Amino acid sequence: MRSWSAPDIVRLPGSGGPLRIHDTVTGAQRTTNPGATARMYVCGITPYDAAHIGHAFTYLTFDLVNRVWRDAGHAVDYVQNTTDVDDPLLERAQATGEAWRDLAAREIQVFREDMEALRVLPPRAYVGVVESIGLIADFVAKVRESGAAYELEGDVYFSVEAAEHFGEVGGMSREEMLRLFGERGGDPDRPGKKDPLDWLLWRAERPGEPAWESPLGRGRPGWHVECSAISLNELGMGFDLNGGGSDLVFPHHEMGAAEACKATGSHPHAQNYMHVGMVGLDGEKMSKSLGNLEFVSRLREEGADPMAVRLAMLPHHYRADWDWTSQGLEEARGRLERWRAAAGREAGPDAAPVLAEVRRALADDLDTPAALAAVDAWAERAEAGAGDDPAAPALVRDTVDTLLGVRL
Ligand code: ZN
Repeated sequence: MRSWSAPDIVRLPGSGGPLRIHDTVTGAQRTTNPGATARMYVCGITPYDAAHIGHAFTYLTFDLVNRVWRDAGHAVDYVQNTTDVDDPLLERAQATGEAWRDLAAREIQVFREDMEALRVLPPRAYVGVVESIGLIADFVAKVRESGAAYELEGDVYFSVEAAEHFGEVGGMSREEMLRLFGERGGDPDRPGKKDPLDWLLWRAERPGEPAWESPLGRGRPGWHVECSAISLNELGMGFDLNGGGSDLVFPHHEMGAAEACKATGSHPHAQNYMHVGMVGLDGEKMSKSLGNLEFVSRLREEGADPMAVRLAMLPHHYRADWDWTSQGLEEARGRLERWRAAAGREAGPDAAPVLAEVRRALADDLDTPAALAAVDAWAERAEAGAGDDPAAPALVRDTVDTLLGVRL
């Protein structure tokens, strides 16, 4: 489906170094090593509520990865899905009486506008599930041919005992996996399954639910299978980075990796896995069930500068859990004003060290607090009248725009 418009990117002088990240699988820092084109897949939203701040923080994080790789001289082939048919979407549509397709289309459009406002670089392929039913069904058929799937009352399940590398993405105990599977959309207690951790690949048609013809019978895909099918179709096996929120480590990425390995007979699904911390609201976990969500679209409607919204997320390291607060947004407004004032001066202190420090900080597992500190220090000196380099303000503007995605 249609992606969103790309912001302009200025090419900075020189180039940045290789990106080091915290890899979920090894639990260690690893230097990413993409070829000329870095291949990245990030799990998209289920469009029944557009982007709350937690989602935005995830896409902002992978936008920084995208920017750092480009600055290091790579092309980036970025793919994102959108889960435009799944249980939570259908339940919301049922509850409000809206047609599920209309609900999905509207929320996807709000999401595109949010991403454009936040200057997030668009994916090359933005792929919906509904438009991918055929390739997902073919993928499930491949998994079945590998012997890793079985039928249960017309539904198709993945048999966890068939997966050689199961557990390697999250490194969790079976007890923990069982608990999370139950909490995050799984069905550990369904009678007839060979193992409680077996998961749904294809759901046979139920009365009142959408369904599509396929060689597996009429039905629709399970959640995990969409991302493995779409990522393989767009990027192939062993792509450079698979990413999402930390709540996707298990079951979503673990199960998706197991499917992709079975369908292709190769390993791994992705070279690196990166997961982003959860964002709370004023001291509580942001969740749909608690109803305490803050949305990018609502902040935009209230007139918040999207660059201040972006800047309010950047002081938080991507792996940390943190809280969105109105005070955090106020502080970001203040910082944006200070940076704009300093970068609007006719001259300032030499900015080459600022570019070097922002590059160094971001390449070091996206150390955004250190990157902001470098710009803060320059802005403070510029405002104090230090330095007389007439090229410095423009270089700081370009650095902040290209690497941090904040237009001054
Ligand atoms: Zn996914």
